[in-house]
Amino acid sequence: MTTARDPSPATAALVGAIRARLPGLRLLTEAIDREGYRLDETAYLHAGLPGAVVFPTTTADVVELVKIAAELRVPIVPRGAGTGLSGGGAGIEGALTMVFTAMDRILEIDRENLVAVVQPGVINATLKAAVAAEGLFYAPDPASYELCSIGGNLGTNAGGLCCVKYGQTRESVLSLEVVMADGAVIRTGGKNVKDVAGYSLTHLFVGSQGTLAITTEATLRLRPAPPPRLTMLAFFPTLEAAGAAVAGMAAAGLAPVTLELMDQFTIAAVDDMNDLGLDRTAAAMLMIESDMPGTAATDELERAESACMAAGATSLVRAADAQEADWLRQARRAAHYALERLGDVRMEDVAVPRARVPDMLRAIEAIAARHEVRIGTFGHAGDGNLHPDLVFERGDPTAEAKTEAVKSDLYRAALDLGGTVTGEHGIGSARREWLEVQRGADAMRVMRAIKTALDPLGILNPGRVI
Ligand SMILES: Cc1cc2nc3c(=O)[nH]c(=O)nc-3n(C[C@H](O)[C@H](O)[C@H](O)COP(=O)(O)OP(=O)(O)OC[C@H]3O[C@@H](n4cnc5c(N)ncnc54)[C@H](O)[C@@H]3O)c2cc1C
Repeated sequence: MTTARDPSPATAALVGAIRARLPGLRLLTEAIDREGYRLDETAYLHAGLPGAVVFPTTTADVVELVKIAAELRVPIVPRGAGTGLSGGGAGIEGALTMVFTAMDRILEIDRENLVAVVQPGVINATLKAAVAAEGLFYAPDPASYELCSIGGNLGTNAGGLCCVKYGQTRESVLSLEVVMADGAVIRTGGKNVKDVAGYSLTHLFVGSQGTLAITTEATLRLRPAPPPRLTMLAFFPTLEAAGAAVAGMAAAGLAPVTLELMDQFTIAAVDDMNDLGLDRTAAAMLMIESDMPGTAATDELERAESACMAAGATSLVRAADAQEADWLRQARRAAHYALERLGDVRMEDVAVPRARVPDMLRAIEAIAARHEVRIGTFGHAGDGNLHPDLVFERGDPTAEAKTEAVKSDLYRAALDLGGTVTGEHGIGSARREWLEVQRGADAMRVMRAIKTALDPLGILNPGRVI
């Protein structure tokens, strides 16, 4: 007689094969342990319970695990720190979740070539600190940088607070070592800054959310450490005025290292949590930073100031010193958690061409009013990337239906403005039905052809992205 707690025959075979072929590898099989890997930060999605959770320590482990999964036709979910906001690392019922926290070594910091070679489980902040100690800078800077892993950043092509100047994760990757769905290990490049040999597989794999290959090592681009930042806050009487300032800065050719926006609801939530004395009467706030050397930073902030004044800013405040600037930055990073103190939050991730930021902000306001949903909007306005956070009373039974309706309207508005349904969090499982709406049937055919060619058995993170 079997009980509900017995593993399915497929899971029993999977666990048996892993134990036999990779004895000693950390493997979670108890349901209570596997539960911790059901969800990522999209806790409101309905995800499956992994059949087993495994922690490889070498590329060879990953190869063997992929071969076992292929033989048994068990899907694999690669997972970093589980901070994803599109369900990409969330569980699939009965699948093998492969967690990279035990592959967390910085293998090399090469000063001469300005590169770092790392394993996927390295935490973003750990890498930043290690290279900073050598006078170097790793640019990709998601707000979750103290929690998220490089493997996850590569999986999602993570953005963050300084993309406006340094680009998304993809711009800082020179090469990957990946394990393909048949267990083959390939390198997509090297330490070369210039390399156009063949198709750019690096660019293809970054952002593919574990659906095309599994990353086991990355060669990342470093930069000389920029000078300490000058930081300024600008407050506006309307969201549109803030949006106009963003568009004005882009038109003036400014590329400040940070150009972040918060609406009034978010300003209050952040101020309640951090007690910073922000102007709560303002409809919107921009945080603008320059990391240019010497007087160029002052000059850049003065030009940003002019753009803000021209757009109708009511006040401008400079951080008094590096400590104060750091507090402000940390407060911005915590905007999502500040809103989470007020209820159940669903974070969205639309992006539009920079000049259309005012239009998108106007659309978000109208959508919030139409659906009678509280929306706190913040985000990387300098990239045109906004995070409308839907905030519901805890346990609100209408939350799920309203989320779907609001999402639809937000995505439609972003697409109508020439934008995208996701700027940095990924399609994952959260936005799958919108990919074809955005890209069209022919682009979907091309994407499916790539997926089928690289993963004919469909074992790599199925049901995500396409
Ligand atoms: C408060 C908060 C703030 C955030 N701010 C930002 C932000 O500013 N910018 C931003 O872009 N994101 C942000 N995020 C989202 C999230 O942190 C990023 O998407 C991050 O890149 C996920 O990293 P992770 O290690 O948690 O990956 P996971 O969530 O574990 O995985 C993410 C994806 O990568 C895949 N993956 C993981 N490891 C591998 C691997 N070794 N090989 C192949 N695929 C792999 C997974 O299958 C999954 O599809 C934020 C999240 C939170 C909670």
